[in-house]
Amino acid sequence: MNTRISASLVVNESGEIACMACGHALGPSGEPWKEAARLGETPLKGAGGEPYSNAANVLLRCFYCPGCAALLDSETALAGDPFLNDVVHV
Ligand SMILES: [Zn+2]
Repeated sequence: MNTRISASLVVNESGEIACMACGHALGPSGEPWKEAARLGETPLKGAGGEPYSNAANVLLRCFYCPGCAALLDSETALAGDPFLNDVVHV
């Protein structure tokens, strides 16, 4: 049985973090998973239209499933910042 750990991720029966949509495994439970995802980075400025007028060096990072391209998570960061890793223990 899968255990849901976010809106888009589960821990599967093998103890791996996986995409809820397609089951693609992203690594062992309890470990950071974002390195296994596909990363898209765009400037946050203008990303959501004119109200997003913050500094041009702020990035919107989107982490996509390598199996089905579902959006798994997003965060804002400066270029070169380490990923914000949420580690969930189930
Ligand atoms: Zn997927």
